[in-house]
Amino acid sequence: MTNSPKTILSRRKWIGISGAAATSALVFPFQVAAKEADHKFHQHRSTLKGFYANSYLIEGEDECALIDTHLNIDEAQDLTKLINAIGKPLKTIVITHPHPDHYLGLEHLGPLFPTATIQSSKATLEIIRTTAADWQAFPNSLKPLKQGDILLANRQFKCLLLADAESVAPVVLFDTKSKTLITGDHVLNRQHLWMVEGRMEAWRNNLALLADLSPKVVLPGHGDIGGPELIGLTDSYLRDFLSMKTRNLTAALIKQGMLARYPNHLFTEALDNSILAN
Ligand SMILES: [Zn+2]
Repeated sequence: MTNSPKTILSRRKWIGISGAAATSALVFPFQVAAKEADHKFHQHRSTLKGFYANSYLIEGEDECALIDTHLNIDEAQDLTKLINAIGKPLKTIVITHPHPDHYLGLEHLGPLFPTATIQSSKATLEIIRTTAADWQAFPNSLKPLKQGDILLANRQFKCLLLADAESVAPVVLFDTKSKTLITGDHVLNRQHLWMVEGRMEAWRNNLALLADLSPKVVLPGHGDIGGPELIGLTDSYLRDFLSMKTRNLTAALIKQGMLARYPNHLFTEALDNSILAN
């Protein structure tokens, strides 16, 4: 790992958090699809034990591209069922950022789709390469993304390589034709944010850049698909947390305050860990 223990939690720690969360409920993964002209965006959501992370399958006329791959093997297996049901070749897998709930499923998906190219920021690919050294097989080629135009399932997207924020080296994708924004974990919908790595000001700066794109549809890293209001809601959450942090409130008071403001948000484990880290 090139990242310090503070910036990237170990695989064991992530699975540990996931295991603790899994005891409270199990929800089967589900899929919804948003149709856009000749392309469809299929959302595939993981269970609580995978932190409800989203993967998205972009279905074009002749081929598919996958965005993110979940944390656990069974979620990746379920995602495979969706890919096989669509029945079009999977040419590309883009990983939005190097957090395990978005890429560890590659251990299962890589060997099943060996000709799919794994694309992400250089730093994320380095982390995947290091992690994959422990996997039985990982035959896929890795390709670093550049800022600018990218073709996914034969559809033109803008690739944005943003400054380190929620994670290091995040990738955001924007379909300029339909104004659909695939945000990774820069934007969440009704779920507590993972602020363990700090950098909340940088995160807010990145959100301002995303709002400037004027998206119509926002595909968040966790939670339901929504509109541009999700960007503002994520920013408000960060602003509220920062404001409590600067007032030097105790951890218990910060938690109480955030839960009062966001009573319906899922996954309080993210809030607990964020308070601990900050
Ligand atoms: Zn996530």
